Amino acid sequence: MALSEFELIERFFRRPARHAVLGVGDDAALVAPTPGCELAVSVDMLVAGRHFFADVDPAALGHKALAVNLSDMAAMGARPRWALLAGALPDADPAWLGAFARGFFALADAYDVDLIGGDTTQGPLNLCVTILGEAPAGQALRRSGAKAGDAIYVSGSLGDAALALAHHRGRIVLAADELALCDRALLRPEPRVALGQRLRGLATAAIDVSDGLVGDLGHVLDASGVGAAVTVAALPRSTTLAHRLEGADRALALDCLLAGGDDYELCFTAPARAGAKLDALAGQLDLPLTRIGSIEKRAGLVVRDEQGRTLETLPAAFDHFRA
Ligand code: ADP
Ligand code: MG
Repeated sequence: MALSEFELIERFFRRPARHAVLGVGDDAALVAPTPGCELAVSVDMLVAGRHFFADVDPAALGHKALAVNLSDMAAMGARPRWALLAGALPDADPAWLGAFARGFFALADAYDVDLIGGDTTQGPLNLCVTILGEAPAGQALRRSGAKAGDAIYVSGSLGDAALALAHHRGRIVLAADELALCDRALLRPEPRVALGQRLRGLATAAIDVSDGLVGDLGHVLDASGVGAAVTVAALPRSTTLAHRLEGADRALALDCLLAGGDDYELCFTAPARAGAKLDALAGQLDLPLTRIGSIEKRAGLVVRDEQGRTLETLPAAFDHFRA
């Protein structure tokens, strides 16, 4: 027999809350924010057919639904603490739900986040996670603090998730080992939560790269009232992407690198004097932090290719209403 709404919540989503006064099961959850902290609050919606393939591995979907929200906390320099999950599900398939919950809670546990509530309804597959995090008052990272002369950094590497998507859409053919690596970036992004918190007091501005570097760095530039110069040669990439950049697939690979999206790396700015500290931090976190360019007084984003030529047209940022 099919599970009822409440059986489903009870079986798959009700877990003892470790950091909440009251978790799943009442009309609202109760949380006690840490004194001296501000709450960072964000919500992200994942729609089948738009943000993921409807037949995606449910465990990967559970991971990603939370990961994209943790990434927003990372970009704010906040410590993620509580999450709410609203979902429309076509049916209450226990195998699907079990795998989804496994993926979701594995990541929640890894970052010590409690699921404290949500809403569940039948409908076209659609998942919406709300996240609450904390940062010491006045210390959260914003998009608006970049200053002329600051260096621009990116964590990890860019473009692999978009490369996987290009493969699945038949625009490029990746070898099995290349696809495995790129699929991992697409399906199991690792939010840069520790990095975000360590950047408090070091970075002048930060954003997570969810819609592609050009577009997301553009948001930092707009919010900060500055421009930037970035070089393609400096952009951190996997060997797979580097390989494609040198061959017949260069245009597509360049697009993935500059505007692919779904990277969930942090792009941040910091004064030049922070360089040594950031190098040390990269070592401690075992996460590459690559300097990709600098903030300029003059508005606009200039991207130079490997020969130092300015790219005339930049790939458009991802736009959910145009894609
Ligand atoms: P209400 O009708 O008062 O809005 P619901 O009947 O929708 O409450 O939900 C019952 C309880 O289960 C609430 O505490 C709600 O937060 C929680 N809940 C519902 N769906 C989910 C879900 N997918 N994950 C976690 N908690 C959920
Ligand atoms: Mg109620």
